Amino acid sequence: MKSTRRHFLKLGGLGGAAASAFPLTNLFAQPSLASTKPVVISTWNFGKEANVEAWKVLSANGRALDAVEKGVQVPEGDPKETSVGLGGLPDRDGRVTLDACIMDEFANCGAVACLEHIVHPIAVARKVMEKTPHVMLVGDGALQFALANGFKKEKLLTPESEKAWKEWLKEAKYKPVANIENHDTIGMIALDQKQNLSGACTTSGMAYKLHGRVGDSPIIGAGLFVDNEIGAATSTGVGEEVIRIVGSHLVVELMRQGNTPQQACEIAVKRVVKNQPEKSKQIQVGFLALNKNGEYGAYALQKGFTYAIQSPEIPNQIFESKSYY
Ligand code: ASP
Repeated sequence: MKSTRRHFLKLGGLGGAAASAFPLTNLFAQPSLASTKPVVISTWNFGKEANVEAWKVLSANGRALDAVEKGVQVPEGDPKETSVGLGGLPDRDGRVTLDACIMDEFANCGAVACLEHIVHPIAVARKVMEKTPHVMLVGDGALQFALANGFKKEKLLTPESEKAWKEWLKEAKYKPVANIENHDTIGMIALDQKQNLSGACTTSGMAYKLHGRVGDSPIIGAGLFVDNEIGAATSTGVGEEVIRIVGSHLVVELMRQGNTPQQACEIAVKRVVKNQPEKSKQIQVGFLALNKNGEYGAYALQKGFTYAIQSPEIPNQIFESKSYY
């Protein structure tokens, strides 16, 4: 059985099947990683399959940039993942609009937002980075650019996601539920064997959002940030709250000030709580951080934020982060 997070939640993480997929000893445990490489870490349970592709690149001494681009394409192309790429839940008008960004060890970056009809927005973001003088293209402009660069126009709304949207329309209440799959993003950060960092972040955003809404995920500094001297960070959860604190940039700057990746993620999450003491009890926001030595951190507002990590010491596996609440 494919180990989706919903499956995990149903089993409460305690049943027999879940126990083999998520050994209880792993929950909250963080192996210490001093100067280890390569490392790849990515958000949520779908990160595990994504890491497999990233690891192929990293273990062959490839570039972290190529690893993260390949890795996040796994959930992007999976029609059963309803929060990323193909099969993503649509906005309230029934349109699947995708957001993605990518950043490399030279502070090169590229992003697309509100992009429709393209299965792999991360690959378009990389093309924006490499082929244009710009960082971000949005909407029709991003689509035109993608088509001009050989990407195929496809239908992203699957019958399942269309059905879920029609069901939602009956009440049409916009209320993102923490850890339920009406949102989620794959954010992936990696350190390669040459000790260079890169990251990628891609999502269909909050389901049933207003048409044109853009979250944190394609915003360099919010959903993703990489500084090859220090470290990299990525986020998931309610993007508006991450943008308000410029979350991933904050995490990297906190590491620059001497905090461990874990401390940096915790301070950033507490900043969300400080901004929105009441709202923060209802929503999810989570961060992953990786520093230049391959040490990592993970922290979220709510329980249930899982991530997948692989390094020479850790076979690709899923952990649950500590949380504020
Ligand atoms: N951060 C994404 C957004 O706000 C959604 C998520 O990661 O859950 O679009």
